[in-house]
Amino acid sequence: MPKHRKKGDLPEKDCLHCGRPFTWRKKWERSWEEVRYCSERCKREAKKTDKSESKDILK
Ligand SMILES: [Zn+2]
Repeated sequence: MPKHRKKGDLPEKDCLHCGRPFTWRKKWERSWEEVRYCSERCKREAKKTDKSESKDILK
């Protein structure tokens, strides 16, 4: 039975704003599926940017 968890076991995602990979955090345990940004700052910056670039980002 594996008792120890490696740090590398935590899931990772790439931030939609800065493109950097970030690792699962406790505070996201309930919303990990919805997390897209590594930080509140990126989230805010992305929203700002989104207004001017939304036409190009349409998916
Ligand atoms: Zn980021």
